[in-house]
Amino acid sequence: MKNNTNNEDGVKPSVTVHIDLCKGCGLCIIHCPKDVLQASIQINALGYPTTIVATADCIGCGNCYLVCPEPGAITVVRP
Ligand code: SF4
Ligand code: SF4
Repeated sequence: MKNNTNNEDGVKPSVTVHIDLCKGCGLCIIHCPKDVLQASIQINALGYPTTIVATADCIGCGNCYLVCPEPGAITVVRP
């Protein structure tokens, strides 16, 4: 049976947090329906605690991208 989160080649959606652009506001964490994103104690180049991708369960909904106030901090790929 086809998994509806995959494309025809079986490639899943994915998310990347570019940690040096993230300010750790947490909005993406709150709005992710799959709990993919988590707060981290890692401090980035700007001195902020950042958000990390914690699971491979991204469905490519784009919520995190839409709510993120920092341009370029999140990339979502929907194959
Ligand atoms: S695209 Fe959707 S499922 Fe994937 S990390 Fe962002 S909010 Fe979560
Ligand atoms: S919404 Fe953007 S700035 Fe805020 S924690 Fe997520 S990636 Fe970082």
